[in-house]
Order: sequence, then structure tokens, then C-alpha cells
Amino acid sequence: MAEIENKINSSAKHDEKKRFKRRHFAPKRKVCRLCQEHIEKVDYKQIQILKTFMSNTGKILSRRITGNCARHQRQIARAIKINRNISLLPYSN
Ligand SMILES: [Zn+2]
Repeated sequence: MAEIENKINSSAKHDEKKRFKRRHFAPKRKVCRLCQEHIEKVDYKQIQILKTFMSNTGKILSRRITGNCARHQRQIARAIKINRNISLLPYSN
């Protein structure tokens, strides 16, 4: 009897683990927002778009968070960097 109970217990534990794993590693599939909206090129002047891909502290959000495709992520990163550079310039001598 004890053996059977043990087997049942262990299998139940195994199932729990599996369920936990699945819950943990299968989040919603993210789709690139820019591809969805058919935006081919991201310009550095489109600050409103770029702001949505930055954190509150001004960091560029990673692909893991935004779900961007590689092409758009590159464009966004470049555009944000251009903007940073511009804002670093002094307004007057
Ligand atoms: Zn894209």
C-alpha cells in the first residue's frame, strides 16, 4: 500500500512541477507593434513613438520586454541614440 501511495504522490508532484513550468515559461506571444501598424521606418523625429520604447528612467527597453522584431529594435535604438545626442548639445555658447 505504501509503495502505491508513494508512486501516486510522486506522480502528482511531477504533474505539479510540469504545470508550474508551463505557466512560467509560456507567456503571451508578443508581436512587434511597428510591424502590426505597418511602420516601415522609424525616424528620430518621431519622439512620441520612441518614448513608448523607453523606460521611465530613459533607458531603451529590450526586445524581451517590448517584443519588437530585430529590424525595428535596431531602428528604435539608433533613433533614440540620435535624440540623446541632440539633447546633449547646448542651446547657446
Ligand atoms: Zn517589426
